[in-house]
Amino acid sequence: MCIFCKIANKEIPAKIVLEDDQVIAFHDLNPQAPTHVLIIPKRHIAGIGQAEPGDEAVLGRLLLAARRVAEQAGIAESGFRIVVNHGANAGQTVFHIHVHVLGGRPMAWPPG
Ligand code: 5GP
Ligand code: ZN
Repeated sequence: MCIFCKIANKEIPAKIVLEDDQVIAFHDLNPQAPTHVLIIPKRHIAGIGQAEPGDEAVLGRLLLAARRVAEQAGIAESGFRIVVNHGANAGQTVFHIHVHVLGGRPMAWPPG
């Protein structure tokens, strides 16, 4: 079972900030901004490239959860970034789809 499936199953600990029947959000272990939260579907999907038409609803849930996370963290007004890394060039390291929510500081564009 992958590491994020284990977090979703509460087999390994994480600082959970939000959870519903389909998604769970927790603080990134190695934060890159004052707020850095990951949101995952509880059901394993390896990446955006492996998502199927039946995953539409849960993918939408991830984005709406990102907004809720930002509101809870108090960064909805100041702004935040939502990132989904896919594959080697994007630096994906965990192959269970996840949305990064980053905020609490200004961010550069384009990303590095
Ligand atoms: P990726 O580069 O795949 O988009 O991002 C994976 C993220 O997961 C990284 O930011 C990394 O710090 C985070 N991460 C990896 N393992 C764990 C873990 O066991 N717990 C938590 N909370 N975050 C993790
Ligand atoms: Zn998984």
